[in-house]
Amino acid sequence: MPFRLANVGGRAALADADHWYDLADLAGDASLADPMAAVARADELATLAAGLGDRPPDGRLDAAPLRPPIPRPQKVFGIGLNYRSHAAETGASLPPAPLTFTKFPSCLAGSTDDIPLSGDRVDWEVELVVVIGRRGRRIGRDVAWSHVAGLTLGQDISDRTVQRLGTPAQFCLGKSFDGYGPIGPVVVSTDSFPDPDDIGLTCDVNGERMQDGRTADLIFSVPELVSYLSSVCTLEPGDLVFTGTPSGVGVARDRFLQPGDVITSTAEVIGSLRNRCTPFA
Ligand code: ZN
Repeated sequence: MPFRLANVGGRAALADADHWYDLADLAGDASLADPMAAVARADELATLAAGLGDRPPDGRLDAAPLRPPIPRPQKVFGIGLNYRSHAAETGASLPPAPLTFTKFPSCLAGSTDDIPLSGDRVDWEVELVVVIGRRGRRIGRDVAWSHVAGLTLGQDISDRTVQRLGTPAQFCLGKSFDGYGPIGPVVVSTDSFPDPDDIGLTCDVNGERMQDGRTADLIFSVPELVSYLSSVCTLEPGDLVFTGTPSGVGVARDRFLQPGDVITSTAEVIGSLRNRCTPFA
């Protein structure tokens, strides 16, 4: 059964289209209040989601204090240059294996949180984010989806100055300022999608369409990424993979984020992030 997992004010919740339900109350199990515990129990979430219509909701999603649906992952992987269109606009050659970096988990933010800008060359990157649900190492491509609890939406906000301070470029810190990893609004189970390998993503800045892509165009697909990363690191429930961004980023347009800009990111089935940029604080 499909489910949508949210984090409402620090507590795990299941969501339907418009409402949320406190997960621990729903299950009668206090240990499910922690979203990190909940994401490791996807089978139970699916069962509980099937019974949501039988009880009154705890609140409306559009009025809920949504936090990152996965607040404390052990690992947050980023994948660079994973769309041909984006590799082309940056002038980079296609990587022979997934170009992997880390976003430190402290950069994660909620779906409507402000983003304090660290400089004058800060950029947007809308991305599908994979949420691991089952521990594994050396995971085969053929079973990789069974290790995925669900999918969410993210922005891999990037300070291009910090990213390119030296040669070769380093990605980790320029993409890890506080607030540079908004995710959400919910984690959606993979069986919610007509095809989890073909999801449309868009990014608007102040209402102007900047990015419009589909994950069918990924160079390294979700199963390939899960298999590759697990050949090095044991993957744990809640680990995140930012899968790369399609074309249309600011650095290719020589346009960067400014205080007051509003970034609206949308993914089919998952929903939207809406983040306002603010001066560095
Ligand atoms: Zn990225």
